[in-house]
Amino acid sequence: MKIIESPEEMQKQARLLIQSGEYIAFVPTMGFLHEGHLSLIRLAKEYSDTVVVSIFVNPAQFGPNEDLDAYPRDFARDEKLCREAGADILFYPTSQNMYLDGHSMWLSEESLSTVLCGASRPGHFRGVCTIVAKLLNIVQPDFMVLGEKDAQQLRVLRRMVRDLNFAVKIIAAPTVRAADGLAMSSRNKYLTSAERKEAVCLFQSLEKAKALFAAGERDAETLKAAVRAVIEATSGKVDYIELVDDETLQSVQTLEKPALIALAVKFSGARLIDNTVLAP
Ligand code: AMP
Repeated sequence: MKIIESPEEMQKQARLLIQSGEYIAFVPTMGFLHEGHLSLIRLAKEYSDTVVVSIFVNPAQFGPNEDLDAYPRDFARDEKLCREAGADILFYPTSQNMYLDGHSMWLSEESLSTVLCGASRPGHFRGVCTIVAKLLNIVQPDFMVLGEKDAQQLRVLRRMVRDLNFAVKIIAAPTVRAADGLAMSSRNKYLTSAERKEAVCLFQSLEKAKALFAAGERDAETLKAAVRAVIEATSGKVDYIELVDDETLQSVQTLEKPALIALAVKFSGARLIDNTVLAP
């Protein structure tokens, strides 16, 4: 596995690979890798000759009071895990190389990013779209593998790729969970041991919604109230619980088409998200 730090070098390598007829699959991450990330790398391998993983904690997608400085980092461990999972190139740029002095070009998606995490984290998706567009220009992949764990991010980036004609196909990978159901996340590290036990409430609340939906419940308020009750039985504070149309991300009252139920919950040290699609 090659480690490349310079964007120019990465772009040069990508060109050479493309010229020699190789397919490139790309897995963008912020590092502190867990089994969720590794499942994406393994899936990427099925689609390509060369798997490029990037590790970059993107300052532009963190708000002023968010956890940029505290975000967990462990490059030595990440490098080993990437190698073992079968990555061919690990792209590990610095902030200075990704955002040159005077950087003044930003990309914003103006519909899907206004709700859910976009409403609670202003500017977040502008940071995500800008960095992913840059990474796509640098890595030039045929495929990009993204996790369904970040459902809104996946939909916003699909829209970016569609609306700006990026020549990449997005592959969605299912959410990998711990044995109790908690979705794996680098931020789980921030939880106290008591919170870690409680954090399974996100998964359990979604399971509750799924069970009600399977039993015929179609009223969004009823489903959201059931989810809220599961969360409020813990020390977690609801940031949002929304039931939205799976395509437009607009709120729905009655579920007639596939709907995304998404939630964000704050514990003392971490804001966690999870989601599931309710489809007839
Ligand atoms: P992050 O490092 O958190 O920015 O995540 C990098 C990629 O891994 C994104 O496409 C995420 O959606 C995906 N990802 C994060 N957690 C999981 C998980 N538990 N299961 C599957 N994919 C995940």
